[in-house]
Amino acid sequence: MKSFITIDSPGADVLFSGNESIARGCVEAGVSLVTGYPGTPTTPVIEILKSVDSPIQARWAINEKVAFDIATGNSWAGLRTLVTMKMSGLNVASDSILSVAASGTVGGLVIYVGDDPNVYYGMVEQDSRYYALLSSAPMLVPANPQELLDFTRYAFELSEEIGGPVFLRSTTVLSNTYSKVTLGEVRRLRQKAHFDFNIDKYTKAGSIRCRKQHQEALDRVKKTATVADHLNILTEKGTKVGVIASSLAWDYLMEVLEKHDLDLTRLKVSTAHPIPGDKIRKTLESTERVLVLEELEPIIENGVRVQASMMENPPFVFGKEDGLVPRVGDLSPDQVREALSYVLGEKIEACPGLDINEKAESLKVERLLTFCSGCPHRNSYYAMIKAMKELGMDPSEIVVTGDIGCTVLGINEPFSICWTEVSMGSSIGLAEGFIEAGMKKPVVATLGDGTFYHSGISPMINAVATGQDMPVVILDNNWAAMTGYQSNFGTLGGDTVRIPIEKISRGFGVNSVKVVNPYKLKKSIRAYKKLLTARGVNVLILRGPCVARQPRTWDLAVRVNPKKCQGFEGCERTCIEALACPAIIRDGDDVRINQEDCQSCGLCVNYCPSAAIRSSPLKIRRKRIGI
Ligand code: SF4
Ligand code: SF4
Repeated sequence: MKSFITIDSPGADVLFSGNESIARGCVEAGVSLVTGYPGTPTTPVIEILKSVDSPIQARWAINEKVAFDIATGNSWAGLRTLVTMKMSGLNVASDSILSVAASGTVGGLVIYVGDDPNVYYGMVEQDSRYYALLSSAPMLVPANPQELLDFTRYAFELSEEIGGPVFLRSTTVLSNTYSKVTLGEVRRLRQKAHFDFNIDKYTKAGSIRCRKQHQEALDRVKKTATVADHLNILTEKGTKVGVIASSLAWDYLMEVLEKHDLDLTRLKVSTAHPIPGDKIRKTLESTERVLVLEELEPIIENGVRVQASMMENPPFVFGKEDGLVPRVGDLSPDQVREALSYVLGEKIEACPGLDINEKAESLKVERLLTFCSGCPHRNSYYAMIKAMKELGMDPSEIVVTGDIGCTVLGINEPFSICWTEVSMGSSIGLAEGFIEAGMKKPVVATLGDGTFYHSGISPMINAVATGQDMPVVILDNNWAAMTGYQSNFGTLGGDTVRIPIEKISRGFGVNSVKVVNPYKLKKSIRAYKKLLTARGVNVLILRGPCVARQPRTWDLAVRVNPKKCQGFEGCERTCIEALACPAIIRDGDDVRINQEDCQSCGLCVNYCPSAAIRSSPLKIRRKRIGI
């Protein structure tokens, strides 16, 4: 579908995912820059735009706040800009977003944020619609890929019409959904950078300016209520029961109504902020019972209840506040059907095909949440535990803080060594807090290369400046692997100038920095032993590229010798339980290595107490994964 991202063929129908629709929307809107930080579900927009030939500059920034600041500069110079981030990233960027929402913008500035109802990808089940209220900025909430395209294009027009940033909010399911989309016309804007030197607009110097900017932001929201009201569609049918629905819940509602041949008064809400007060009032006035459908928080519902509270004889309002619609997890057509049955007072039978979530649930396969076969991080944690034991330490008594990304899988069995996961780069600050509290040393901070660049630099400076004794372990797999292999500023062969972690760390004045290849087990253990007993802030970088990214260049050679292997029951702590490499599998009492999956990293060769695992006939070529 990528070929359709840039071609000018208005009216053509194509199959697009939600993210492809947004990328296309940027092209149709004549956007000049798309920037952001990787975070599912929003990552693909920049990846798509980087892979096609278009006049749009698409690039990643070091974190979401920096991305938003870059986007703002571009907008203040008069150019159209989209900035992308997942909900956690919105928290990072929020400091600047609230300030810029008050100042206003010049070129259209659209913030594409992806929430994750049901937590398909991890982290807080956050409802980012609150940020629209908090920052007094409008938010559009599309319901399907066609609207993602149309609303993206329109969001730039709206942003320029009101003179402020506009949020475009999607969700994991919506951004990944495919459906037929009709393309619009590609605009090629001739935008020339200019800047209006105006401290009243671009600074916060003094309360008079700040109060004026606050009022202007509120006025922009008020204007949005008029100019964007066409996105909110009221269909009056004269029924006693009405439904107000937003985003994906709207599509689920339509699916249920169509399948059951129901025709009810309904209001589609596409502006989460400001919500369409007049149309909500009309819906309430013409009905006796109103169901409000939205995912996560009851934001629209509370707006509906406020409108109802101002009426003399308001209808009954049903939704999340009374527990009919869940506040946790995402919605499904089946849940919508059940809620509607309750409000209608009559059972609507499930249709075949609408219970797809239950079917999917029944197909789930139990498996250990662990590192991939041959992952360098498995070796890194294995060596850490080995070193602790050789130093006479009990790993279960040592506080090891974790961070965001693949590295945090050290929390799981069989390693069970990481104990915290808060936010990007937080492991170092958390470790400092544990040390200050008087926890037994060492307190170890672990993080990945991406998280170090994103938000690990400031806490590391803090730890050095406050004179902590802190081992910092950076598990450097060369990529932002979890979000699909985006490069960072330390990536060998990445698409920016390389600024190695060791250079940055040395610049802070840390006590020592050591770079080790985690596939070299003995060296890694030696380096850990030094690190865990050193004073001051010391950094150990375990650098081994992600095996999923590294092309396979050799014949497999690692196998279990059945004559030597003591079998699953016979071996005290089996390779399966102690390493949990997915390539080592149990076959009855036999243990064997799945040659399709094995990456020949050699860790199990080092581990087997019976020397039953051997690389044969070739020697393990660690060179391939070495630096
Ligand atoms: S060599 Fe052993 S530990 Fe490494 S990927 Fe193969 S089976 Fe897993
Ligand atoms: S650790 Fe060695 S002896 Fe034990 S089950 Fe695995 S291959 Fe066999």
